[in-house]
Amino acid sequence: MFNGDVRVLECWCPIICGARKSNTIKNRERPFYACPLPKDDENCEFFVWVDEAEEL
Ligand SMILES: [Zn+2]
Repeated sequence: MFNGDVRVLECWCPIICGARKSNTIKNRERPFYACPLPKDDENCEFFVWVDEAEEL
């Protein structure tokens, strides 16, 4: 799915998830999509790396 120039996915809620960048040491600057809701709220735990999502 495309939204202008920015690729987005929907999580299982479903809510539009914009790409965000990881800042962990292991995956520095690696963009990912994840459920935007707080973990303790309605978060559906959707998570996918952008580079892996390209193959879906
Ligand atoms: Zn969600």
